[in-house]
Amino acid sequence: MFTNKTFTMLKPDSVEKGNIGAILEKITASGFRIVALKLTQLTNADAEAFYAVHNERPFFGDLVTYMTRGPIVAAILEKENAVEDFRTLIGATNPTEAAEGTIRNMFADSISENAVHGSDSDENAAIEGAFHFSEREMF
Ligand code: ATP
Ligand code: MG
Repeated sequence: MFTNKTFTMLKPDSVEKGNIGAILEKITASGFRIVALKLTQLTNADAEAFYAVHNERPFFGDLVTYMTRGPIVAAILEKENAVEDFRTLIGATNPTEAAEGTIRNMFADSISENAVHGSDSDENAAIEGAFHFSEREMF
């Protein structure tokens, strides 16, 4: 069962800047257990589907270009209250509004290139995790 779990992506800017290790360290030091982990790259169709809720927004094209321009790190994380606690750990969408010490405060450059994704519900965490990982890749 997919309970007390969330899904994250370290977005292309985090990989490009060499921040994979620092961000994973921050995540595990905050009490999350890594259940699944891989370096992968989204296709255009993947990114369009993943962010379909935003497809009418003016930034949608740039968002798809950004999310597909290089590899991401996809991961499933486990912790009590994982979805909500991980959203707290990453901070606000706009890093200028992200609280001190949050991942976006520390590692994101802008609202459009904001370092990490965190699922916004248990239901979406399960869908997003299952998209990237098979049963045998989840521990
Ligand atoms: P994510 O879904 O990636 O975890 P989020 O839930 O904090 O981010 P959403 O509102 O779902 O924020 O927006 C999805 C992504 O679209 C953001 O992370 C950001 O990369 C981009 N985005 C959101 N709002 C803007 C904006 N006003 N201008 C440019 N890009 C934006
Ligand atoms: Mg979102």
